[in-house]
Amino acid sequence: METLAAAGAAAAVLSARWNWWRPRVKGLPVLMYHKVGDYPAGSKLKSLWVSAEAFRKQLEYLKRRGYTPLLFSEWRAAELGQKPLPERPVMITFDDGYANNHAVAFPLLKEFGMKANIFLVHETLDTHNSWHDPESEPWIPMLSTSMLGEMQDSGLVEFGSHTMRHRNLTALSLEEVSWELKESKKRLEQKLGREMLGFAYPYGAGAYHPEIRRLARKAGYRYDFGIKQGIAPLPWDPESGPIKRLFVRGDDYMLDFHLNMTRGRARF
Ligand SMILES: [Zn+2]
Repeated sequence: METLAAAGAAAAVLSARWNWWRPRVKGLPVLMYHKVGDYPAGSKLKSLWVSAEAFRKQLEYLKRRGYTPLLFSEWRAAELGQKPLPERPVMITFDDGYANNHAVAFPLLKEFGMKANIFLVHETLDTHNSWHDPESEPWIPMLSTSMLGEMQDSGLVEFGSHTMRHRNLTALSLEEVSWELKESKKRLEQKLGREMLGFAYPYGAGAYHPEIRRLARKAGYRYDFGIKQGIAPLPWDPESGPIKRLFVRGDDYMLDFHLNMTRGRARF
């Protein structure tokens, strides 16, 4: 009886904390990462830092369960009927384009033969995360142009746009929004020699603002990503709204990761 009561209590705690009871969700799980490695002293955004060990465990999980990470161009090729989607697709995305994506994540992607997509803030390339107040989040190096070339040439990484300056799009005029969307697409395409198919809204802001979203589509992005939690439906219809993602937090357990991947949500 005592063990039963203990099991009951444990189940109650699990229910209150994790969404294990939700039904499994089919579709395309899109993982959202930011920074990989150990967070610097003074960081107030620790949940945005995923350690190298945690990232390795997550890649191991994906490999063990037979997931195949997709690049934007592979998703597009499948939509156009050129090449079928893998049986268990997943998409790995990184927002902002920190140099630690190259130093820490890229070697692990190579080791596992896994692919990822990175959203760049054009004006921060070769410099630092200047949109952050250094009082709350220390400035750290962003990807350099040569790192972009190395990653793209590996065939394991593709890039998308995260605007020119990482402004909150809902705080700008529609003219400025249009510039952020179009100028970053044009400049990145010049720099990388590839079409920018993907776009992520900084802070997720504007993803559900009809005018801003219309401008993002008009700028020519095929895939627009928000920060709403969930698994994207497959096939995805742009009319159904921006692509949902699974926020991978620095303090996640593997149980959180598993529930995100299978239920679209780990915690309340
Ligand atoms: Zn961002």
